[in-house]
Amino acid sequence: MRMADDIARIADRRKKVKACPICGKPSAERYRPFCSARCADVDLNRWLGGVYAIPGREDEEPSAGEDGEDGA
Ligand SMILES: [Zn+2]
Repeated sequence: MRMADDIARIADRRKKVKACPICGKPSAERYRPFCSARCADVDLNRWLGGVYAIPGREDEEPSAGEDGEDGA
């Protein structure tokens, strides 16, 4: 039982590593949800440019209990 619990926890932790929305590489903890400052910058520029569109956000698989709004 315990062992299974640990495995589940590890799997859960891995699930939290999302791909960078800009280039698709695994995101770095420091720059979440991006993989680097560069990709974060690209994203910021999109926002500033007013052309930012969240691709397929509504179509994405619904992830309960995770909205990724707790960054920064
Ligand atoms: Zn990236």
